[in-house]
Amino acid sequence: MIPRSVQIALRRRIIQHKLKSVSHIWPIDPSAAKKPAGFHGWPNNKKFALILTHDVDTKQGHDKCRQLMDLEESLGFRSSFNFVPEKYPVSENLRKDMTQRGFEVGVHGLNHDGKLFNSKKVFKQRAQKINHYLKNWNATGFSSPSMHRNLNWMHHLNITHSTSTFDTDPFEPMPDGVKTIFPFFVTNGLSPRMDRAEGASSTLGTLGTSNFRHSVPPAAGASSTSPLDTGQEGTYNLRHFRHSESPQGFLELPYTLPQDHTIFILLKEQTINIWKQKLNWIAENGGMALLNTHPDYMAFNGKESSGTYPSDYYIEFLEYIKSKYCDNYENILASHIAKFSDINWPKESKNKNRKKIWIDLDNSPHVPFFKPIIRELENSGYSVLLTARDCQQTCEMADTHQLPYRRIGRHHGKNKVIKLFGLFFRAFQLAPIILKEKPIIALSHGSRAQIILSKLLGIPSVLIQDYEHARLLPFFKPKWEMGPDILPDSAFHINKKCILKYPGIKEDVYVPDFKPDPSILTDLKIRNGNLLVIVRPPAVEAHYHCQESEPLFEAVMERLLSRNDIQVVVLPRYEKQKNEIKHTYEELILQRKVILPEHVVDGLNLMWHSDVVISGGGTMNREAAALGVPVYSIFRGPIGTVDKTLQEQGRLVLLESIDDVHHKIHLKKREWNLLSFENPSATLASIVRHISTITNHQ
Ligand SMILES: [Zn+2]
Repeated sequence: MIPRSVQIALRRRIIQHKLKSVSHIWPIDPSAAKKPAGFHGWPNNKKFALILTHDVDTKQGHDKCRQLMDLEESLGFRSSFNFVPEKYPVSENLRKDMTQRGFEVGVHGLNHDGKLFNSKKVFKQRAQKINHYLKNWNATGFSSPSMHRNLNWMHHLNITHSTSTFDTDPFEPMPDGVKTIFPFFVTNGLSPRMDRAEGASSTLGTLGTSNFRHSVPPAAGASSTSPLDTGQEGTYNLRHFRHSESPQGFLELPYTLPQDHTIFILLKEQTINIWKQKLNWIAENGGMALLNTHPDYMAFNGKESSGTYPSDYYIEFLEYIKSKYCDNYENILASHIAKFSDINWPKESKNKNRKKIWIDLDNSPHVPFFKPIIRELENSGYSVLLTARDCQQTCEMADTHQLPYRRIGRHHGKNKVIKLFGLFFRAFQLAPIILKEKPIIALSHGSRAQIILSKLLGIPSVLIQDYEHARLLPFFKPKWEMGPDILPDSAFHINKKCILKYPGIKEDVYVPDFKPDPSILTDLKIRNGNLLVIVRPPAVEAHYHCQESEPLFEAVMERLLSRNDIQVVVLPRYEKQKNEIKHTYEELILQRKVILPEHVVDGLNLMWHSDVVISGGGTMNREAAALGVPVYSIFRGPIGTVDKTLQEQGRLVLLESIDDVHHKIHLKKREWNLLSFENPSATLASIVRHISTITNHQ
C-alpha cells in the first residue's frame, strides 16, 4: 500500500506536470459556454446562477458543518450539504437544523470506499440503501464520491438531481468533463430489456463521452416563480420522481468552479484567483456557477494543519460575488434548480450540423486509445458516432470508460472461414446505422469490418495501425493509413501520398492520462511483500497468432508458481480461455496464488502496481514499457518495428524459447519511478490534426 502522504505527493507531481498540457481546457474550457438551444434564462432574469454545495467526506467535516452554515448564513447565502450515510454518524439534529434554516441535505455516496460503481450489481444493491437514506432524510439530491459515475445506472436512485459531473476537470479520476456550464437532463433509458442490449445506446444519442441528452419530462403544473419561494417546494418533484426508480430521469448539475481540494491542497494556491477568473467567465456567459467545497479541508479560526486551507478563502469568494455582482445572480439550492429546470429545459440535440466521424471499437485496447481522441475531436467541433464489437471485453471496457457506443456484431472464433464470413456479416449489421447517420469519414485501429463497409458505401476510411504484419483483406483497403513515424512506408498497404505519421507510439496517446490507484492491491488481496506478476496469455484466436506462444505461456506459469512469494494475476482474453485457466489452476486460485479478476480491471493501474509483466499481446507490452514496468513478451508471431525498437531501447525483452523463460526473466521487486512523459500531448495532437486535415478535404 502507498501511504496517503505519498499518494498526495504523487498526485501533486502528476497534476503539476499536467497543468501545462491542459491549460486550453482548465480552469476554462471555452466550448462549455454554449447555451443550450431554447434556454430562456435564469429565474428573475438574473445574469447567472450560483449554487453552493458541500460534500462532507469525514466525521471531522461533519463536525465543522455548523460553522460553515453560520458563515454562509451571515453573508446571506444558502447551500446543500451532502453526507455519507454509512461512513460516520450523521446527526439528525444537524440535518433538521439545516433544513429549517433554508439549507438542504443530500446523499454523498454510501460509504465513500471508491467501489460504488465497481459493477452494476454492486451499484444496484447499494442504490437500495441510498434510496432508504434519501427517503429518511427527505432528500432528493445525490453527489457521487470522487465524481465516479455512470449516469445511466444512477436512474436506480430516487433523485431529482445530482451533482456528480463537472464541465472540465482533467485532474479527476474520471477526467471527462461534460463540457457545459448549464444543467442538463439525464433521460431515463433504463428498462430491463434495453439494459445490456444493442438497442440501449439508441436512447443515448451520440453526445460524446457521457451518456446524456437534453430533454424535458412531460409538462406539469409547476410555475416559474422564484425558486426560493418556499410555498410550493418540491411538489412537482415529489409527484414525478419519488415513486419507484425515477421514471423520467434527473437533472445533472456539473460543478463549474474547481474543487477546493484541487486548488488549495494539490496545487497549493494561496489566493482565490482561479475561482474569480472562472466565476467572471461564467457570469459573462450567463451560466451556472456551481462550487463544491468540503468542510473537511476548511480550517476555521486559523486552526490550520497540512491538508486544510483557511475558511477565509471561502469567505473572500462569497464577498467577492456579493460586491461585484450585487443583484445580478440568483443563489439557488440544487433541488430548486431541478424544479425550475423541469419546465424550462429544452429538448435539444447538441450535435446538429457537426461533421460526424464514425469510430469502430473492434478490440478492447482500442477503448482507452480512442477515448482521448474522441474527447479532442468533440472539442474541435466534430460529433462522433461510436460502434463497438462484442468481443474480448470491448463493450465492458467501453462501459467502464462511459463511452456511449452502439454494440453491433460479435467475435466469431478462430475458424478462418467462419471468421471471414463473420467480418462480412458484421459489415452488413453495421450498414443500417451507417446509412442513417452518414458519417463523413470512418476511423478505426484495424477494424476490417469497418473498412469493408466504408469501401462499399464510398465513405473514406482511415486505418490507424502500428503492426506491419497485420493482414488486410484483398480489394478492401482503407483510403488513408496512419501509424507511428518509426514505421517504414513499406509497413503500410497504400499509396505513399495517403500515409500519415505521428510521433511516439500509440500508447503515448493515453498512458499519460493514467492516475495510480493503490486500492487495486487490496481489492485483489495481494499480500504485503509478495511479488505481483501480471500475465496475459496469447491471443489464440487472432489471425496473427502463432502456436509457439502457448508452450511459452505454460512455462512462464510453471516458473512463477514454483515460488512461494509470487502472486500471479492472469488476464485471459476470452471466456473460453478464462474457463481453461480456471480449470487448470483451480487449487492455486483458491489459495490466491493465481488470481483471475472477476471484472474488467484497469490494466494500466494493475501494471503500475505490479513488479513484472509478461504478456502475449502487443498492446499490453507497450503499455508496460510506456509505464516503465519491466516487461517480457511471449508473443511469437512476426515481431513488428515498434516492438523491435522498444527491445533495442531495452524497454521490452522478447522471450523466444523455454530456455529464455528460465534465464531471462528477472523476478524481483521493482523500483518505482515517478511517471514522467516527455511530451504527453504530441502524439494525440498529431493524430487529431491529421484527422481534421482529412475531413477538411471531404
Ligand atoms: Zn467525497
